Amino acid sequence: MRGRSHESAQTVVILGGGVGGVATANRLRRRLAPHHRVVLVNREPDFSFAASYLWVMAGTRTAHQVTRPLRRLERRGIEVVVGEVDGIDPRRRVVSIGGREMAADHLVIALGADYAADAIDGLSEHGETFATLAGAEALARRVTSLSRGRVLVVTAAPVYRCPAAPYEAALLIDAALHRAGVRSRVSIAVHSAEPAPMGVAGA
Ligand SMILES: Cc1cc2nc3c(=O)[nH]c(=O)nc-3n(C[C@H](O)[C@H](O)[C@H](O)COP(=O)(O)OP(=O)(O)OC[C@H]3O[C@@H](n4cnc5c(N)ncnc54)[C@H](O)[C@@H]3O)c2cc1C
Repeated sequence: MRGRSHESAQTVVILGGGVGGVATANRLRRRLAPHHRVVLVNREPDFSFAASYLWVMAGTRTAHQVTRPLRRLERRGIEVVVGEVDGIDPRRRVVSIGGREMAADHLVIALGADYAADAIDGLSEHGETFATLAGAEALARRVTSLSRGRVLVVTAAPVYRCPAAPYEAALLIDAALHRAGVRSRVSIAVHSAEPAPMGVAGA
């Protein structure tokens, strides 16, 4: 086995600064010797905690309270690059970020999943989502100003990002409307694409 002084410095590039990417970066930084580089690349400068978007939607948290600057990771020795990943060339061990190439000895892809709201007619124009921070903020404005009407919480496919979220959303909207004293004038229904709640999670 070669001693550490002879070990060549390696660069690990982690694509995606969500929960997966940040947890991986922290774990690798703790385990790897300091001369190895850990680089995290993300589109936005901030990490935001998706599980708290529901509280943003219900008006009990602000967007600011559920986000943290990714640059804070630099204090721990993790390099942070903000930019759009637009290409991966595994043969050359190179990634492209905003058209600029970065070499990687090791690559972790943690880019998450994108939403395809346009796959359903009318959804983007008429629906709101709590699955993004901007969507949760838009919903908060609707929920906190609602005085009468009907709320539909809809899942369009049996597999989605968080099995509990639609049911949690309906209960949080229920609580918010109770607090506002308008619950009796608003009906809430959940329309689910799964045969029973939490099926995908094995419930
Ligand atoms: C409302 C809600 C509630 C949830 N509640 C829970 C819960 O209670 N418990 C639980 O375990 N899970 C929960 N989840 C699911 C959990 O949030 C996800 O499983 C988790 O965020 C996935 O992490 P990830 O790192 O794989 O992807 P993401 O969090 O999606 O992170 C991917 C990152 O990559 C970036 N990115 C994507 N493409 C590019 C690109 N081309 N260039 C640069 N950057 C890019 C994105 O901007 C993002 O920052 C919830 C999700 C939602 C929406």
